[in-house]
Amino acid sequence: LTTKVDCSLFGSRFDCVCGLCHEIEPAEVVFSEAAFAEAPALARRRGAGRKAAALMDVRTKAAAGDEAVAGLNEAGFEVAEILVPDGPGGSWPVCDDKTKMDLERRIGPVDWILSVGSGTINDLGKWLSADRGISYISFATAASMNGYTSANTAATVEGLKVMIHSRAAAAVVSHPRVLAEAPAEMTSAGLGDVLAKTISNTDWRLNHLLWGDYFCPQAAGLVAEIEPLYLENPEGLRARDPGAIGALFSGLLLTGAAMTMAGTSAPASGAEHLISHCLDMMSSLDGRPHDLHGRQVGVGTVLAADLYRRVLNLESPDFGRPAPTPDFSVWGPLAGIAAREFGGKAGRLEDARSRLSKGATWDNLRETLTGGLHGPDKLRDCLIRAGAAASAADIGCDRERLLEALIRAWSIRARVTVMDLAWLTGVLPGAGREITENWA
Ligand SMILES: [Zn+2]
Ligand SMILES: [Zn+2]
Repeated sequence: LTTKVDCSLFGSRFDCVCGLCHEIEPAEVVFSEAAFAEAPALARRRGAGRKAAALMDVRTKAAAGDEAVAGLNEAGFEVAEILVPDGPGGSWPVCDDKTKMDLERRIGPVDWILSVGSGTINDLGKWLSADRGISYISFATAASMNGYTSANTAATVEGLKVMIHSRAAAAVVSHPRVLAEAPAEMTSAGLGDVLAKTISNTDWRLNHLLWGDYFCPQAAGLVAEIEPLYLENPEGLRARDPGAIGALFSGLLLTGAAMTMAGTSAPASGAEHLISHCLDMMSSLDGRPHDLHGRQVGVGTVLAADLYRRVLNLESPDFGRPAPTPDFSVWGPLAGIAAREFGGKAGRLEDARSRLSKGATWDNLRETLTGGLHGPDKLRDCLIRAGAAASAADIGCDRERLLEALIRAWSIRARVTVMDLAWLTGVLPGAGREITENWA
């Protein structure tokens, strides 16, 4: 079984066909059976000082924290374990301002931070280290999301979900066994987050085709080579096969890198992410629970793939109808944020309408976009065979709620996606019910 992950991209710097010079962070990724043994040398190579604080929760302490800290301390570092408390109601820790302030008080003067965990712990390490202007190294304990290699922190500040521009990790390190033993729902979340790439890339290209927005083919194509490893063998993820999980981990590291290359989240976040964000916003309004980000994104990916199929099947759609008007009032206290995020999109949609109805624009768009997509059947099949979340019920919501998210999602961001095409061509809102009933 191969657990080999090609880490050579990280730390490289090159002039790209897109016209930019890319510098790929983090500078180093170590994914190996020797991860624990190599960690001290890795830290020294990254210029990490002697004193560090290691963030972990009770689960990641047992999975990797104790072993990683013992190894570093034996090698002459002075690393203190800082246990991050679980969230309200015994949930997993949360990355919010309150938790951060509490940790800020508990972490003494240190040279760097080691985060041992996945989404939340990694984000806390990223956030705290950026604030102090020190570096952090991430010990990844689950192939659950693409934030290990991104420079953004997803945090909740004063009750609101925000993206904080921080700094990428100095290095990411992980062990195949640790990832394979992570809770199955976390691995399934990682699969959802990486499958999103098919939609987000296409949405990104759509904006490039319509308006000449920046697009990097290199960043868009980063996961192409390894994608078949998890797309064709999802059973490997269910069986915790280290090769399959290693491929998924690579896919996640590379999608994180694609965002850094592009300088935006566009290469890894399109219509499917908006559906998940909508579900999160609905939860923050009515208090009903939501599922892990990647699990919701996976379901959103299948719905968005069906939208693309329906839209791109139209030979000569009528772009005569006016662009849709958002109703922010459905967001209650969040209406102001939704309106701010929507920004000047109304003008862009009017412009899209006129561009799409001229000359060969629609034909070119159809031809170019179709090539990069997977059908909803293939994506859903992959999620099911992997034992991941594939239906509304799997992510703890009913089809009505998912339909509502599908209908509202276009209006919570300025980014133009397949959902806007669906509204402009009249596929939405009409087909929404059929789409959620067929696929979720
Ligand atoms: Zn480029
Ligand atoms: Zn994501």
